[in-house]
Parts: sequence; structure tokens; C-alpha cells
Amino acid sequence: MQTLSRLFRFFEAVLFPPLCLVCRAHLKTEERSRWLCGNCAIPFDFPIGFFCPFCRRRSPVIPSCHPETRFAGIAPWKYENKRIRELIHLLKYEGVKTAAIPLGEALQSYFLRSAARGGILFSNFIVIPIPLHPRKLRKRGFNQSLLLAHPLRSSMMPILQDALVRIRATSSQTALESREARARNIYGSFAVKSPEAVCGKNILLVDDVLTSGATMREAARVLKKAGAQRIIALTAARTS
Ligand SMILES: [Zn+2]
Ligand SMILES: [Zn+2]
Repeated sequence: MQTLSRLFRFFEAVLFPPLCLVCRAHLKTEERSRWLCGNCAIPFDFPIGFFCPFCRRRSPVIPSCHPETRFAGIAPWKYENKRIRELIHLLKYEGVKTAAIPLGEALQSYFLRSAARGGILFSNFIVIPIPLHPRKLRKRGFNQSLLLAHPLRSSMMPILQDALVRIRATSSQTALESREARARNIYGSFAVKSPEAVCGKNILLVDDVLTSGATMREAARVLKKAGAQRIIALTAARTS
């Protein structure tokens, strides 16, 4: 059976050699696991560490300037980074699930290094991907945040998929300009389905892009209300 599946993988690799997600070049063996060629590999834009989602001040440790924002941000790339934009676009709008692999793995490495630098211990942590409304999930077929969160899962940090749910469909945040409009649009759209699973826990919230921070703020608000302790918002990219 094993020989058969090895044989199958061999022919699969010959017939459909994996191509770089960005430039479609053939990948060398050592590049295949990250789905990007050497030219398209993405270095981190930011030095290791956290930022305040309110004033965007950077800090190697969790910023204490605006504790009322309820969470600390962490993101390895600027959204202006053309390659990051391309990968996120492939993932969200073209259904290329493999685009989550290089992003998710880099997210994991960036997060672990930032957490170590900031003295974060992993006791009592759970990973919660920002959920999609069921209608949107049906349309896209997958939750991109869950795919991005996958590499972060460990025995010390399990992923809880259904603890936080979307109870109201919202219009796209990207279509809205102001911070206030985005906050109004998202208010009341999340609910904690299983408060006992989040009460007393530290939470790593995962999403693709942090723009105004309204989505994360609203998710953090309901999670705090359910008794969550420390909340860290991890996104692949941030806009400022
Ligand atoms: Zn390439
Ligand atoms: Zn601040």
C-alpha cells in the first residue's frame, strides 16, 4: 500500500510539478513545501514584536499605551507589500488554498519569535480564527483565517473553530472608508458560542489583514465579555 502511494506521488510530481504561486516557475525540491520560488520568497517587513492597534506604536513587548483597545497586534508584513497582496488575493478571491501555506508558516515563525522576545508564555492559550458568516463560508468554500491559523496549532495551543461565531452578515469592511463606519458595520456581528471554552483563556485571534482593527476589536470585545484573559491579534498583514 505504501509503495503504491509513493508511486502515485512520484507520478503526480512528474505530471503536475508544483509551481511557484506567484510567478509560476517550477519549484526546486527544497522550495516545494513553501510553494514559492527563491525569487518570490517573502522576507518579513517588520522587526519582531507587537504593536498597539490604536496608535500603531511598535514595541518588542506587549504595548501598554492603550490597554483599553483590549488586544495587542502582531503582523509580519505591510499590506503594501505587493507579493503579500498577491498571495492574500489568491487565497481570498481566487480560491487558491495553497496560498495559505507560505503565509501561515511564516506567521507561525514570526509569532513564535515575537512571543519569545516579548516574554509570552504559552500556558492556557487557544487559537481562534476570525469566523465567516455561514453564507460567506458556503460561497467561498473555506475560511481563509482557519487555513492561516493551521500551522500555529500545537498541543499547547489548540484551535477552537466554533467558539466564536458570526451571527450577523455584514457588508464588506473594505468598501467602508472611515474607522467609525467600519466599527458600526461590525458591531454585534460576533457571539461566543461556548463561553466555558474561552473563559480564563489567553487567545490568539487570527485573520488575514488588519486595516482599521474594527473586526478584531469587536471580536475581542465579546471574547473579553465571556471572560477571556489576554488577547493577541495575529494577521498576515497590516495596512499602517
Ligand atoms: Zn516565483
Ligand atoms: Zn497605543
